Amino acid sequence: MWTPDQQSQATASRAYRVREFRRRVANYESDYQQAQRLRARQCRACYYLDAGLAGQAFTAYTCQQCEQPRMHHNTHIPTLCDACADVLRACGHCGGDREPTPSI
Ligand SMILES: [Zn+2]
Ligand SMILES: [Zn+2]
Repeated sequence: MWTPDQQSQATASRAYRVREFRRRVANYESDYQQAQRLRARQCRACYYLDAGLAGQAFTAYTCQQCEQPRMHHNTHIPTLCDACADVLRACGHCGGDREPTPSI
């Protein structure tokens, strides 16, 4: 049976998700970790919106540019390896422009 407790927990959990989403969007807009983000070779959307999605396991992937097999330190695998992302000035994760961030 779905108890009143479960219902209010589900409601609270959704409210938390909304607050978390707002926080991520605010971080996206302020880009307060710009230096760390660029060191991580990521665009704002990947860096701020996808943070914390990865599982902790080394994961094999193939770079979509040089087509070399690579390893990544978590399960949120990149599209491009570091070297190719730098050459293309792209986000390693999504492969889009690293900078500037398009207006939304
Ligand atoms: Zn590559
Ligand atoms: Zn990206």
